[in-house]
Amino acid sequence: MKYDYIVIGGGIIGMTTAREIANRGASVAILDRQSFGNEASRVAGGILSPMRPWIENKDSIALSEKSKTLYTNFIHELKNETGIDSQLIRSGLIITNKAHSQETKIWAKKNKIELIEKINIHYPKLNIPNHSILLPEIFQVRPTLLLNALYKSLQNLQVKLLENSIISHIQIDKNEFKYITLSNHKKIYSNNLIITAGAWSKLVLKSINNEVNIKPIRGQIINLRSNKSIIDKIILDGAYYLIPRHDNNILIGSTMEDVGFINKTTDLAKDQLLQWGYSIIPQLIETKLVSHSAGLRPAASDGKPLIGLVTNFKNIYINSGHFRKGILQAPASAKLLADHLFGEPSFMDIHNFSLEYRNNTKKIA
Ligand SMILES: Cc1cc2nc3c(=O)[nH]c(=O)nc-3n(C[C@H](O)[C@H](O)[C@H](O)COP(=O)(O)OP(=O)(O)OC[C@H]3O[C@@H](n4cnc5c(N)ncnc54)[C@H](O)[C@@H]3O)c2cc1C
Repeated sequence: MKYDYIVIGGGIIGMTTAREIANRGASVAILDRQSFGNEASRVAGGILSPMRPWIENKDSIALSEKSKTLYTNFIHELKNETGIDSQLIRSGLIITNKAHSQETKIWAKKNKIELIEKINIHYPKLNIPNHSILLPEIFQVRPTLLLNALYKSLQNLQVKLLENSIISHIQIDKNEFKYITLSNHKKIYSNNLIITAGAWSKLVLKSINNEVNIKPIRGQIINLRSNKSIIDKIILDGAYYLIPRHDNNILIGSTMEDVGFINKTTDLAKDQLLQWGYSIIPQLIETKLVSHSAGLRPAASDGKPLIGLVTNFKNIYINSGHFRKGILQAPASAKLLADHLFGEPSFMDIHNFSLEYRNNTKKIA
């Protein structure tokens, strides 16, 4: 069989992209070297907001804003299709860092975003400074549930799911993708190839393109369980944050570590995250540590994802490099690419995220 599309990489971006394309009637195979959703996407906190929107470039902001508008429907449709509720919750986000709360005030005013300055919440012993602010309209989703829902949705859509499939060769002929050969010598043919391999996207493309500038940035996160509800708002303090889940689990994240492809947890990070958590909510000392995980965020060199055609190829596309916002930006990124592939008008120009555009602006600069 020859598919319309093969998608390489079964994280949130690959699965959302495969679903979007299959929903439009194309035949799709999605392939991963392990089981789907086992890397950065599974570890993510699921905050549906950039951490510091005032330093983001305008294209990335536009993509994030579009995704926010798509999220309610996205989760609702997935629940209807699969029965899995990905727990989209309007948690609100408290910002405690002084400089960041000042910057957020300016940004919120400029963008007409609702913001509360005098936070009136009465959790026991919550150590947050008076200058803290609350953004009430920030949502969270539960990535592990979302990945399960996407998996089931792809099954329902008859997408070919190729897990534990190791690529040994990508066949190109005159700038055109032809087929993939797997380590078991099986060939998979398709009219188009889409790379969604997160932090590994550059490695997947290494033999055919050297312009994809995405590198891994490790993030570590811990999961605590409480036997009662302690807080219902997300708290963000510089790089660290605390995310309360529906079921009294509390996540504390995250580190930002430039350590290459070493995807391991460290005791140092665990201690730092716990100490920060206890300093904000001393009651957390009574909670149980459930897990400690690490994931590699795909960081593009200029801070915005790569979406669109890979330079010099007729039928190889990329959707990758979403760094700290892959969960947030997945629905809009998939829509932008699918609109382009199906020749439909979209909410913004895909060239803002394409490799050609970046190369041209580099030449101008
Ligand atoms: C600690 C932490 C917290 C985060 N919190 C948030 C948050 O609150 N909100 C948010 O929006 N984002 C968050 N992120 C970022 C988010 O997790 C990523 O942006 C997103 O998961 C990237 O998705 P992806 O599908 O591109 O990559 P991944 O989920 O890493 O998936 C890539 C897939 O490609 C596969 N692959 C790699 N190489 C190959 C190959 N050669 N052949 C086949 N398959 C291959 C991998 O096995 C993997 O399944 C967080 C990240 C971390 C680490």
